[in-house]
Amino acid sequence: MLIVQKYGGTSVGSVERIVSVAQRVSQAAKAGNSIVVVVSAMGKTTDGLVKLAAEISKNPCRREMDMLLSTGEQVSIALVSMALQELGQPAISLTGAQVGIVTEAEHTRARILHIQTERIKKHLQEGKVVVVAGFQGISSTNALEITTLGRGGSDTSAVAIAAALQADFCEIYTDVPGILTTDPRLVPEAQLMSEITCDEMLELASLGAKVLHPRAVEIARNYGMPLVVRSSWTDDPGTWVTSSQNKERSLINLEIARPVDNVQYDTDQAKVALLRVPDRPGVAASLFGEIARQDVDVDLIIQSIHEGHTNDIAFTVFTPVLPKAEAVAAAIAPVLGSHKTNQAEEAEVMVQQNIAKVSIAGAGMIGRPGVAAKMFATLAAAGVNIQMISTSEIKVSCVIAAQECDRAVAALRQAFEIEGEEKGDKGDMGDKGDKGDKGQFIPMPNAQCPMPHAPVRGVALDMNQARLAIRQVQDRPGTAGKLFGLLADHNISVDMIIQSQRCHIVNGVPMRDIAFTVTRMDAEAAQKMLQAKAAEYGWGEVALDQAIAKVSIVGAGMVGQPGVAAKMFAALAQHHINIQMITTSEIKISCVVAQEEGVKALQVIHAAFGLAGSEKFIVPA
Ligand code: ADP
Ligand code: ASP
Ligand code: MG
Repeated sequence: MLIVQKYGGTSVGSVERIVSVAQRVSQAAKAGNSIVVVVSAMGKTTDGLVKLAAEISKNPCRREMDMLLSTGEQVSIALVSMALQELGQPAISLTGAQVGIVTEAEHTRARILHIQTERIKKHLQEGKVVVVAGFQGISSTNALEITTLGRGGSDTSAVAIAAALQADFCEIYTDVPGILTTDPRLVPEAQLMSEITCDEMLELASLGAKVLHPRAVEIARNYGMPLVVRSSWTDDPGTWVTSSQNKERSLINLEIARPVDNVQYDTDQAKVALLRVPDRPGVAASLFGEIARQDVDVDLIIQSIHEGHTNDIAFTVFTPVLPKAEAVAAAIAPVLGSHKTNQAEEAEVMVQQNIAKVSIAGAGMIGRPGVAAKMFATLAAAGVNIQMISTSEIKVSCVIAAQECDRAVAALRQAFEIEGEEKGDKGDMGDKGDKGDKGQFIPMPNAQCPMPHAPVRGVALDMNQARLAIRQVQDRPGTAGKLFGLLADHNISVDMIIQSQRCHIVNGVPMRDIAFTVTRMDAEAAQKMLQAKAAEYGWGEVALDQAIAKVSIVGAGMVGQPGVAAKMFAALAQHHINIQMITTSEIKISCVVAQEEGVKALQVIHAAFGLAGSEKFIVPA
């Protein structure tokens, strides 16, 4: 068999560990397998290099950063190769340039375009283990400019090499026994999963579970590459990441071709919005708790950032259950609003029928800011106004007026070059609302998940996010396209996009607030760039809040399960944690909370879903 094994920083963090990695590799080779090893830099080497650069320059040139950071891996490949040779196992180390890992010319975050396999294959045929430097490539075989893939990118190198070589499978060896229900460093009771679907893992990885680089999962999904995460210290089986994608996909433009494989729509949706509910812990919990008690399944939920002392919460439901949902909202609104100091503060229920949800589905949506921007721009060009947005790594959905659905779907199919019959708009995740034949409800069989699972499989925390809010943005087609187009032009990825439900009319033009999260690294640049455009576009203040944390639950089984959101919100409410923003997608729910409450939020949510095991994991230092 041809196997690609990747060893992370901790796994090659010392001479002893390198020797034990070499023993494992040589055993696999002796068993008759061809082995390609991909390694990270030793221990915290890359962090150390980043620090060194920071001591010299506040804003170092990205090309020089790549020159610097790529050195870490060159050390470890040579040492691993020597350790193998010492055991009598022929081996050769190769840098990204020597292999021919060709990437975009985007320093510090390059995507892989293609991988030349001749040299690796030649050495494998000679009976050698080939030890390749992870995380690095070259911009072209002529220029030989060294690029890196972004922090944590060795996982991506490994899976890409496995796909290029059409390996039998790819093993990611790390310092935990596999993929757990959450980060065991924060929740020692986290439990190991024996398998997880690519879609679930894509969401978890992009929502902060750093055990796998999201782009590695994306490649595994797209090429149907079997992927397993295992411990470097034991022989335990680890966690398999399963995918149902067929493997017929070109190896050219490996990481950049076709992020969208489907356009989906659902015209059986209605929206309920509660305006001006108090901004305090427990509000979302009581609303969705009551809705769950009525056995109503909600689809999208958003809670926008506060305005004054109140928030807006909006959700969509399957039209037939709208009367029930509306009744709950109407009953609860006066109770929630009972603190009001004046009439204008009173909570109000707004219902809208005749809406549709259109979605683009695929992988790597958040990682590629241009994809959502293109969706918004396409809808704008078709004259379609966007009422609600939901983003996730595997799907971007927009709620629009139902009568515009056909036009929107046609425009999106054309923009993303989706061929074939229009009724192929089925979700891979057993989406409840996606229609095959017009108007008819078809429950999708779930190919990826044959065994029934708990609705929530994993919980993730992202402490590296910041929130930007633009006040007073015009509510008309093209606004989101313009805004997210600007961010995409600067390669800034956006998550959790929320437009407020409340609308202010200024000079006859409806205005709303729009808030979104970006990684903290990009936050100040994004704020500056947007502020510079604010006057031209007629936007109000661009506010930045860095002190936030995003906590998310993920699970394919939450589709069609009433009460999942309510349970998450109730866990936070019980611990007096205020929810600042909510967004959902089909298989995930994310909440923004204050940064100092992030870890606590993760722990209480993990416990609330009964994910804790009886064993505690101690992650070795
Ligand atoms: P490597 O250096 O091997 O690439 P990383 O540090 O990048 O290792 O990833 C492994 C770490 O990911 C673990 O030590 C753990 O703290 C963290 N982690 C976060 N979420 C999870 C999760 N759901 N399951 C397992 N590990 C997780
Ligand atoms: N050494 C790189 C980093 O620390 C790549 C990796 O470890 O995956 O980000
Ligand atoms: Mg890693």
